[in-house]
Amino acid sequence: MTTALIIGGGIAGPVTGMALQKAGIDSTIYEAYPTSADGVGAFLSIMHNGLDALAAVDAADVVRENSFPASKVEFFNHRGTRLGEAPIGGSAGDRGPRMIKRSTLYRELLDEASRRGVTVHHGKRLTHATTTPGDPVTAEFADGTEAEGDLLIGADGIHSVTRALIDPAAPKPRYTGVITVCGYASHAPATTEPGTFRMTYGRKVFFAYLTAPDGQTWWFANLPHHSAELTKEQLASTTSEEWQQRVAGLLARDRTPAADIVRASDRSITGANGYDIATTPTWHTGATIIIGDAAHVSAPNAGHGASMAIEDGVILAQCLRDLPAAQAFSAYERIRRPRVERVVATSARMGGNATPGPVKRMIRDAVLPRKLKKGPRNTASWLTDHHVDWNQSIRQPDDTRVETPPHRS
Ligand SMILES: Cc1cc2nc3c(=O)[nH]c(=O)nc-3n(C[C@H](O)[C@H](O)[C@H](O)COP(=O)(O)OP(=O)(O)OC[C@H]3O[C@@H](n4cnc5c(N)ncnc54)[C@H](O)[C@@H]3O)c2cc1C
Repeated sequence: MTTALIIGGGIAGPVTGMALQKAGIDSTIYEAYPTSADGVGAFLSIMHNGLDALAAVDAADVVRENSFPASKVEFFNHRGTRLGEAPIGGSAGDRGPRMIKRSTLYRELLDEASRRGVTVHHGKRLTHATTTPGDPVTAEFADGTEAEGDLLIGADGIHSVTRALIDPAAPKPRYTGVITVCGYASHAPATTEPGTFRMTYGRKVFFAYLTAPDGQTWWFANLPHHSAELTKEQLASTTSEEWQQRVAGLLARDRTPAADIVRASDRSITGANGYDIATTPTWHTGATIIIGDAAHVSAPNAGHGASMAIEDGVILAQCLRDLPAAQAFSAYERIRRPRVERVVATSARMGGNATPGPVKRMIRDAVLPRKLKKGPRNTASWLTDHHVDWNQSIRQPDDTRVETPPHRS
């Protein structure tokens, strides 16, 4: 039986483990952190297509049972004037995204993979891997231990070690100029209707919040465009109170409830630099491949990184189910690359300056309500209406399955 070493127990890792199991391939997950995600951290949206891909491996309930739906966004300017509303994800009803805390998602996916019999090792940080054609892959970990398998799947996220092992010249993540700060307020001074995001184009900060069914308000703030990138050490040492002061200060002049929501937050505020990589030229070599953020990093604007990581894991398992590894990797890349790179490009385009100066603000406030009234152009349908058919067999080399229509900008 083929055995796979999966590096990373975030989102792509456990999904791949479950999907490989369904495909009859044995795998073990090696996660760098000693325990499942600590702390609360940020929250994520899992889109309809992410849930659809999870359903292909009978795991959609893992998200459904630990999340709540969002279906609509209301837009406001810095004066608190409502500019209009739009459905989220291109679709209304239960096809909209599910909101889930990152730590909950990591924990529940890993627990589910483990419950199904996938072995999970914590405290295993990959440092190196050696692969010789015809021989097993040997993974080396920071604690001095090693593991052997037929394949190595790098699901080790944005700063992937596997990416650099496959191609030492691989592009590094590019800082987008946006720092996202995220928090939760159990007793917020303003709440939203169920499933409704309120997004405010503040003077200095783009601010969004929505209230969960238990009454806790979840929020994120994009700090002023071109904020300086924070080092790992700065991110680790900035306290919740420091984030709170900085963000509330930047929001103070807006006539919206944003600053008060931030001031009312629990001690759970965290910040993260935004990154993307336009394209990673090499996804696989020999018996090693990268998936999820290790292979394609999109800025968080489109809210699709997690859903893409889920799709990746399921489709890679389908390829490995139907083809020998080398052909499976090529088939996987051919199927996935056009779609994920289109997501990266779309997300980058969405990342313009959301807090421009007074003239651009005036133009936006005049134009946006008319645009929103016209209704959505449903540009998101190619993203969210994507379906993974587990029973479809993957062929090589003449499989012409194409995941997305040609890119139009
Ligand atoms: C602020 C912010 C907001 C976001 N919001 C959204 C959103 O709303 N919706 C959405 O879909 N996406 C969102 N994203 C993107 C999303 O988080 C990622 O696309 C997604 O987590 C990618 O999943 P992954 O499994 O590939 O990587 P990760 O989730 O990063 O998991 C990688 C795992 O590998 C482990 N690891 C790393 N290095 C090693 C190593 N050397 N050895 C062993 N293990 C290792 C890590 O500890 C981690 O557990 C957001 C990102 C940010 C920064």
